[in-house]
Amino acid sequence: MTMPVIMVHGGAWTIPEKLVEASRAGTHAAARAGYAVLMRGGSAIDSVHAAILVLEDDPSFDAGTGSVLTRNGEVEMDSVIMDGKTLASGAVACVQNMKNPIELARAVMEKTPHILLVGKGANQFADEVGIKRVATESLVSEEARRELECYQANYGSAVQELFCQRGSHHDTVGAVALDADGNLAYATSTGGISCKRPGRVGDSPIIGAGGYADNEVGAVSCTGHGESISKVVLAHQIVSDMRNGKAPQEAADKALAKMAARVNGYGGVIVLSNSGEPVTSFTTERMSWAWIKDGVLHSGINPDEEITEDVKSCNLNGCN
Ligand code: ASP
Repeated sequence: MTMPVIMVHGGAWTIPEKLVEASRAGTHAAARAGYAVLMRGGSAIDSVHAAILVLEDDPSFDAGTGSVLTRNGEVEMDSVIMDGKTLASGAVACVQNMKNPIELARAVMEKTPHILLVGKGANQFADEVGIKRVATESLVSEEARRELECYQANYGSAVQELFCQRGSHHDTVGAVALDADGNLAYATSTGGISCKRPGRVGDSPIIGAGGYADNEVGAVSCTGHGESISKVVLAHQIVSDMRNGKAPQEAADKALAKMAARVNGYGGVIVLSNSGEPVTSFTTERMSWAWIKDGVLHSGINPDEEITEDVKSCNLNGCN
């Protein structure tokens, strides 16, 4: 019997002061939701799914409700889930009018022979499996609108360049989990980067780039500049180094350093080894993260910050 662990992130980048407390509260709530599933004897897949639902419904994050906007003011979301036991995965990209894209990614994994559906076809599949569409307006937060306006007001300037390269202020969400049977899973969900071209897909729904889970080694979920993450195939690089014997922290730090040096790209990762060792690493100003193991919640947002809190009120019936 393995000791269960859930880890979540609420994205990298600057995370302005006004969003710090909401980001902490959101990642804590998501970690508790994922941990409650594990404490009930649930699977790693169900745990990451439950955690992502909480984060997608929280407008403080760039996923589901609160997703950032394309330059046309639309919401286009990417989401993925992967089972480390079988390497089965499902993902969707550029989906619209969806409250919880993670539901659709999971349906792709479980109900199709494919691993990635995009755009119109993905939305059609959502209709087939009975996932209701919601109005775009219901997904748009004040923060997302403000970010788009900032971009448009600075169009063509150095500020805009910086903004697009360094990403948005609130961010992508992800989760990795290890269940009592020793199975790993990961999931990620995002609205992408603010002011992106319609049709742009980042790293998040691409297994190996934005995340990976393999029971033989570990699980990873990434956040940060999607194009850079994809160029260095960040998640798989970390898993490969761990497979070859590197410690999780060293593998994560090295891969992010390589991304900065090689393509001037920044981001962050949560990594969980198959022995239950959780590590975080980021090269952005901040990354909100939380993990729970053995009834203790660990979390942080600033470099070198780690706060701990007892969550022993989590039992086989869930967490209070
Ligand atoms: N990686 C995401 C993307 O590029 C965004 C982020 O994590 O900030 O779509």
